[in-house]
Amino acid sequence: MLNNRLAGLSGKTKVLAVFGCPVEHSLSPAMHNAAIQSLGLDYVYVPFRVELDQLPAAVAGVRALGIAGVNLTIPLKERAVDLVDGLSERAQRTGSVNTLWWDDGRLMGDSTDGPGFLQPLKELLQDIPSPALVLGAGGSARAVCFALASQGIDLIIANRTVERAQRLAERIAGVTVKVIEPQGSSLEQACAESRLIINCTSVGMSPKIGESPLPSEFLTDRHVVYDLIYNPAETRLLQEARQKGAIGINGLKMLVYQGAFSFELWAGIQPPVDVMEQAIVQLL
Ligand code: NAP
Repeated sequence: MLNNRLAGLSGKTKVLAVFGCPVEHSLSPAMHNAAIQSLGLDYVYVPFRVELDQLPAAVAGVRALGIAGVNLTIPLKERAVDLVDGLSERAQRTGSVNTLWWDDGRLMGDSTDGPGFLQPLKELLQDIPSPALVLGAGGSARAVCFALASQGIDLIIANRTVERAQRLAERIAGVTVKVIEPQGSSLEQACAESRLIINCTSVGMSPKIGESPLPSEFLTDRHVVYDLIYNPAETRLLQEARQKGAIGINGLKMLVYQGAFSFELWAGIQPPVDVMEQAIVQLL
């Protein structure tokens, strides 16, 4: 079916893209092309491998070629901040851009990772519990911490490299942020204090599926455990959380919603998230 649609490409077709390095395993083309096809829009979404030092040239290419919208993946998100004509408030706050889009002839940068993370939580819980325990201090933890802080949620950050967590904590304003050691009694106490626990580390991700960032003894049935990992769908952390009676949620819906919010910026319409999710599930 997709082949038929590609045969229908014309001079009017709008091009969307994802830039990344690596980009070969990106699920975004399947997710966005499924939405495009389901809506019958004259768009196509293609992946480009872009090295970090080539990003300025690639963004110049976006301008020269009139590419309608772009997603950026690691390691390009921070570098893109200086290459656009304007930034959304949240992209400015997080210092990270995952979406390029056009606004009245200006190439803008936005970050939909934070809203993409929040949406499944809002669908699951009436109120987001505070404080939240965030495991990790990399790119995804940054988006998660800023998103939670924007909702007034206090944060406890635990990361293997404690200085990295401290640097992240220093950037967050308006809520209380505590940095702890990612093990032992500090971690146990943080689990007791926080109903919401979010795994933003890669621990438990395929192929290292036997690992968990938390000892299962620290989990109880009052916890909501949100693991950003979506492959495997059920990490060891999520399995152990569910065994303790906790609520578990994986990163699949976050992936879909960050894409859906980008799509809305490009096309001005809400895409079918169920179609996007199905496209990813089929690939995984
Ligand atoms: P990143 O920037 O590379 O950060 C990786 C984090 O994991 C760092 O905090 C790192 O700690 C920690 N870590 C790595 N190996 C560890 C180990 N063996 N023990 C303890 N901590 C370890 O990566 P990221 O972009 O934040 O991604 C993190 C995870 O989130 C990945 O699994 C990714 O698939 C997932 N993710 C999901 C979505 C989604 O849409 N669902 C979006 C983005 C990311 P150090 O600082 O000490 O190195």
